[in-house]
Amino acid sequence: MAKRANFPATLPNVHTKYCFQCGAASVEKLTVDTVDGPRVQFYCKACHHIADRVNIWDPHMIQYFDTCDNLVHEGAGIIIENGRGELLFFLRTKYPFLWTIPGGHMTPSEKPKQAALREAFEEVGILLDDARLIFEGTIEGDECMGGADIHTWHLYHATITDPSVMLDEEGSRFAWYSLSALPKNITYPVRYLLQQDAVISALTKGHHGA
Ligand SMILES: [Zn+2]
Ligand SMILES: [Zn+2]
Repeated sequence: MAKRANFPATLPNVHTKYCFQCGAASVEKLTVDTVDGPRVQFYCKACHHIADRVNIWDPHMIQYFDTCDNLVHEGAGIIIENGRGELLFFLRTKYPFLWTIPGGHMTPSEKPKQAALREAFEEVGILLDDARLIFEGTIEGDECMGGADIHTWHLYHATITDPSVMLDEEGSRFAWYSLSALPKNITYPVRYLLQQDAVISALTKGHHGA
């Protein structure tokens, strides 16, 4: 869990990565091939530690420290449903290397919906005009590659009849799953979101009797 103390007294005004092990700002990103596809890792030139996560300070994303000095990130995600009521997931090449939905950190100049639509286009190549907000809340235990274990989520939902999916480097493969037959290895926040009543009711609306 990244704390204020893991960062320098004066925070940098450019994207900077600090080693999880020794705190040095001398981390290089690597892509390692595994049987599950490519994975992003970080090599520290100071202590030679290789890690799945780093503490990132990036003025181009919304991040702050809460009253307990924990690093918090704000992000937006989107559940994309196809004409058969199935939901789009992809397998992450970045920590935590599990199945997830399109989503990511917000920049300070973005509205949440704008961020969700941007992530859909970037991560799965689907251009959407609009999406519906179905959940907002803060999830503790949602660990990202950039060091935060707490994220505030804005979750959207959109249905698109016959989408064609094109992954970027953040995903190694994609799949469509129905809510009743989800894969086991889903990221913690997505599992959490798919258990919220508001989300389940938004996803099952319109499918009764279908
Ligand atoms: Zn180090
Ligand atoms: Zn994060």
